[in-house]
Amino acid sequence: DRLISPENRGEDDRFDRAIRPRTLSDYRGQPAVREQMEIFIEAARKRGDALDHTLIFGPPGLGKTTLANIIAEEMGANLRQTSGPVLERPGDLAAILTNLEPGDVLFVDEIHRLSPVVEEVLYPAMEDFQLDIVIGEGPAARSIKLDLPPFTLVGATTRAGLLTSPLRARFGIVQRLEFYNEQDLSFIVRRSADILNLPVDDAGANQIARRSRGTPRIANRLLRRVRDYAEVRADGRVTETVAKKAMDMLKVDPNGFDLMDRKLMLSIIEKFDGGPVGVDSLAAAIGEERGTIEDVIEPFLIQQGFMKRTARGRMATSSAWLHFGLQPPGHRPG
Ligand code: ADP
Repeated sequence: DRLISPENRGEDDRFDRAIRPRTLSDYRGQPAVREQMEIFIEAARKRGDALDHTLIFGPPGLGKTTLANIIAEEMGANLRQTSGPVLERPGDLAAILTNLEPGDVLFVDEIHRLSPVVEEVLYPAMEDFQLDIVIGEGPAARSIKLDLPPFTLVGATTRAGLLTSPLRARFGIVQRLEFYNEQDLSFIVRRSADILNLPVDDAGANQIARRSRGTPRIANRLLRRVRDYAEVRADGRVTETVAKKAMDMLKVDPNGFDLMDRKLMLSIIEKFDGGPVGVDSLAAAIGEERGTIEDVIEPFLIQQGFMKRTARGRMATSSAWLHFGLQPPGHRPG
């Protein structure tokens, strides 16, 4: 279990309720997304319409659920939350849809994991606010049509490419979340520390921001672990030294890489001569699932320029070789 895994874990939930931003103005970073959403939300509100269906994609922990909650809040609407794997049968989705109030926001996390039969039900619901469903089986089966109230579907997924094209085509608004820069993460750390009544100085917050893999969820989680360290091994204040020592102890290196990241890069370098190597071979070599590599580990390494994706597979860049003190192939010493 990775300390810096960007995925939500149970322990995050309680803490999340206290620190999750509730309005667009508290939603830090993502300037393009924020500006667009401000306009779309205000326009829809002025017209008295439901907001267009919105697809949010980006690696875990970047703020998809938070944004869905904010959309509902800013629209003055209720948020209903479910997820692709939970909606097993068409009836599961129908039950939710028929209970919606006008203007409600229905948030479907991991929307790429909807089964095809459930997805079929979603198409007319999104397009015409109509429910088309078959009840019963065999000769007794009959199809019913119901009108639904206008609502907004907010779908979240880690990669837009995972969606079928008919589903993707039904979203009027598509937002892609980017990794956060250090400045924004540092702001998020200081804001969370404030809410927790934890004294953190700027240099301490910057240290945590730098090692958070561009991900607010990781920044907040590291802050909690650093707080523990500060309370037990120091005077409770998070300074640069305390933050550094705590994160060294946690084996989160100055680039924010942890054991998994290092294992992945080293494996490309040592077992596959730097690549290119197919993602399936890589998954087998490090004993990790392909999906985890694609969604969780590699996006940050690629964004930081330590790895690249080519038509023939993944490659370690010279930054990766140098990170481990190794000579990149084709570089002469000196
Ligand atoms: P996702 O749904 O993409 O996995 P979440 O929306 O659950 O991510 O966000 C993870 C945590 O990061 C939340 O607890 C939230 O407090 C914090 N967070 C996310 N985005 C922002 C942001 N833009 N500004 C401040 N905090 C954020």
